[in-house]
Amino acid sequence: MSDTIERVKCLIIGSGPAGYTAAIYAARANMSPVLYQGTQPGGQLTTTNEVENFPGYPQGITGPEMMMELQAQAQRFEADIRDGWITKVDFSGDVHKVWVNDEKEIHCDTVIISTGASAKYLGLESEQKYLKLGGGVSACAVCDGFFYRNQEVVIVGAGDSACEEAHYLSKLCKKVTMLVRRDEFRASKIMAERVANTENIEILFNTETDEVIGDGQVVTAVRVYNNKTNEKHEIPATGFFVAIGHKPNTDIFKDYLDLDETGYIINKPGTAKTNVPGVFVSGDAADHVYRQAITAAGTGCMAALDAERYLAAKEATVEASAAV
Ligand code: NDP
Repeated sequence: MSDTIERVKCLIIGSGPAGYTAAIYAARANMSPVLYQGTQPGGQLTTTNEVENFPGYPQGITGPEMMMELQAQAQRFEADIRDGWITKVDFSGDVHKVWVNDEKEIHCDTVIISTGASAKYLGLESEQKYLKLGGGVSACAVCDGFFYRNQEVVIVGAGDSACEEAHYLSKLCKKVTMLVRRDEFRASKIMAERVANTENIEILFNTETDEVIGDGQVVTAVRVYNNKTNEKHEIPATGFFVAIGHKPNTDIFKDYLDLDETGYIINKPGTAKTNVPGVFVSGDAADHVYRQAITAAGTGCMAALDAERYLAAKEATVEASAAV
């Protein structure tokens, strides 16, 4: 434990589009925000190659470049961007306590949580290799589907997300092969029926991924096996989409904040407020539906504005009671 406890007006946890946007707004509102970047500065977008759907970049921009620009924009207004991992919080009192790397203790008037969610992957070496190369592995059809227009792709997963993404891809791609590991979908009936009734989606039940095959740079095929018969075969494909769920990065908040059954923070509808006054949430930590950079940035703005109003109301109350 550190000897000196730092006092911060607005602490932002996480460095994706939500966190940086919150930092830009909070800094411009004179809230002197301090932002902790976490272990993956830039967040999920740093695993994306080209971002073509964020308004304002007509030629597109790479995920890492966009994050550097957002960081520079926040720093231009003197947001204090720091390395560090928030390991523990205590939101039980009026002042919100946060610990960095289990050592440094910070007392915050407001906290904005922008810790995001992590896409789950299968964990195959070949999958990770082409993911890191930006060579054809993706966990976001809406972000990357466009790059596979008129091509053949494979998607793994059988939940609502997989069905939604397979359907989205079917409108862009020549053929979508869907790998379902059991003999049935997990998705709701209506979503499962939609993919089953789409002509260019082929569903392979009891089928799992053996290896993502490529030429060292980009994906060229996916080797799959039937988990009943152990038969293997290769499916030609230039894209391999993984849609097996996301995990929101919210474990350290679970003793204080209302979470849904999968761990997403529940915000008050139409706001960035959580159940704890002074603690706000933005981005994918509270969003299992849209999960886009632009929606994360939008809710980052909302969180900073909500935090500013919370502080202003608190200061007004203190001034009023001092005047009595
Ligand atoms: P889910 O957890 O619902 O589904 C994950 C799917 O991935 C399951 O079918 C699971 O298979 C499969 N899977 C997991 N691990 C592996 C693996 N290693 N290999 C192969 N397959 C694997 O996640 P979703 O992201 O689909 O949905 C999350 C929540 O969001 C759900 O509540 C969903 O209803 C909701 N949602 C709603 C939407 C809508 O209403 N429009 C759209 C998207 C999501 P198995 O079934 O065998 O366990």
